[in-house]
Amino acid sequence: MSDQTEGNQVEHRSETTPSFAIIGAGMSGILAGIKLAEAGYGFTIFEKADKVGGTWRENTYPGIACDVPSHIYSYSFALNPDWSQFCSPGQEIQQYFEDVADSYGLHPHIRFGDAVESTVWEGGRWTLTTEAGFQQQFDWVIAATGVLHHPKFPDIAGLDNFNGPSFHSAQWDHGVELDGKAIAVIGTGSTGVQITGALANRVKKLSLFQRTAQWVVPSEATPYTDEQREQFRTDADLLSELHQSLSQAFNEGFSTGIIDASSGLAEGIEAQCREALETLIADPELREKITPTYKAACKRLVISENWYEAVQAPTVDVVVEPIEAIEPTGVRTVDGHVHEVDVLVLATGFHVDAFMRPMQVVGQDGLTLDEQWADWPSAYMAVCVPHFPNFFMLNGPNSPVGNFSLIQTAELQFQFVMSVVAAVEDGRLPVAVPTTEAARRFEEERIAAAKNTVWATGCRSWYLDKNGIPFAWPFSFERFRDEMTTPRFVDFEGFSETKQRDVVSG
Ligand code: NAP
Repeated sequence: MSDQTEGNQVEHRSETTPSFAIIGAGMSGILAGIKLAEAGYGFTIFEKADKVGGTWRENTYPGIACDVPSHIYSYSFALNPDWSQFCSPGQEIQQYFEDVADSYGLHPHIRFGDAVESTVWEGGRWTLTTEAGFQQQFDWVIAATGVLHHPKFPDIAGLDNFNGPSFHSAQWDHGVELDGKAIAVIGTGSTGVQITGALANRVKKLSLFQRTAQWVVPSEATPYTDEQREQFRTDADLLSELHQSLSQAFNEGFSTGIIDASSGLAEGIEAQCREALETLIADPELREKITPTYKAACKRLVISENWYEAVQAPTVDVVVEPIEAIEPTGVRTVDGHVHEVDVLVLATGFHVDAFMRPMQVVGQDGLTLDEQWADWPSAYMAVCVPHFPNFFMLNGPNSPVGNFSLIQTAELQFQFVMSVVAAVEDGRLPVAVPTTEAARRFEEERIAAAKNTVWATGCRSWYLDKNGIPFAWPFSFERFRDEMTTPRFVDFEGFSETKQRDVVSG
């Protein structure tokens, strides 16, 4: 049977094979497509933009890079011997995802340039409708829409009054001239720090508006040599060992320490940052300004190879007076001073509770995801939601967003999805929907554990929900791996082991 998907290539699939809709062609969506193709399922990937890449397609600001080592920030099945550096620039990561999607033949399965408007559970299937009015039914939906996706604009008076160009870091306007200009950067998260590092020596003046100081771990640019890349190319075991050893070091060190505020992790990192502040920042006044007053790793740590140099550049002015308003010519702080600038950059983060919304997701009995998540988004085992059958999320609510490699996380979550799909196929489950009771139990245990993490030690951060509780996976990597590789089927509606035996013996 062939199934015409308007505007894209024809997708071939059997009507007897369950069909999957994947929403988003970023890192997780590409992964899901590759794995579904390997398993012989029919699938369509819906992508609002005109190319793959997700966050790496959207974020093109100067200085963009990934501070996670590239050899972990790769699919385990598509290791890349050619990474240029230990931590690679954003453009190279974007190219990696485009190349992987290409080499696995995903493009004909992707419906580009048409955002999904709604998906509705009716008659035991999902009816998915796009903004262009395209409609199709699927047996399964996988939302792979990312977390840091919806730009958050600051609630600052007069933001629209600015005369010059003004944009969010995730919507960089490359038509705007920066060289020799005066720039304001609002925000000192990972993004603001990377932008500052990249622009400090290019612009006439950079006023960096810091609301809260950040712990910044100093790092060094470590390019791989031609010889090393050649070794990785010719020795697959070496590449795989590197991936393994980096993952293990990350999971056993940082990821373990972060979930236990008493582990000493924060103190160790803080000592490293303090030493950098003492030895690299000459001016005590500037040092005081940029020294945080909360535990390291409470907010998402910033790792930078040029922060300490950049903040001392003669062009850079770290402004700690709170912002009162934006004026047509610049930023007015509460002391009445107007910091005159030509360009205003908002490195102010993302709405982390939106996930796939504003897309409408309607589950059993007409319940919407907005209603289900009226308080705050949550998901059973960070993957699925009561009342929303055959619907999964990769890197969705309660995922380990700040602890493990996001790619490793998505790979493990996808294993969970495939195990649950198999349980439906062999009759152990009627549909895949966690019970409300199981979700409640998981949520209670998660919240209790979240309170012991470093994220809960007293700072403002995007890791916290509206009640101030960290929402990321608060358990160990081992537990995450175990939960993902051996799902607790008893936590799903209508589970029956007998059914499986019937199917197997029949
Ligand atoms: P962010 O961490 O949420 O930082 C937003 C910044 O804007 C903070 O400094 C915040 O101050 C400031 N801010 C927000 N509203 C403000 C207001 N009204 N007035 C003044 N300041 C305001 O966002 P991000 O830097 O874009 O980073 C988000 C996440 O993206 C990171 O944590 C990381 O997970 C990911 N990321 C990763 C990399 C990488 O290399 N892997 C690079 C970039 C981003 P407060 O601190 O006071 O809230």
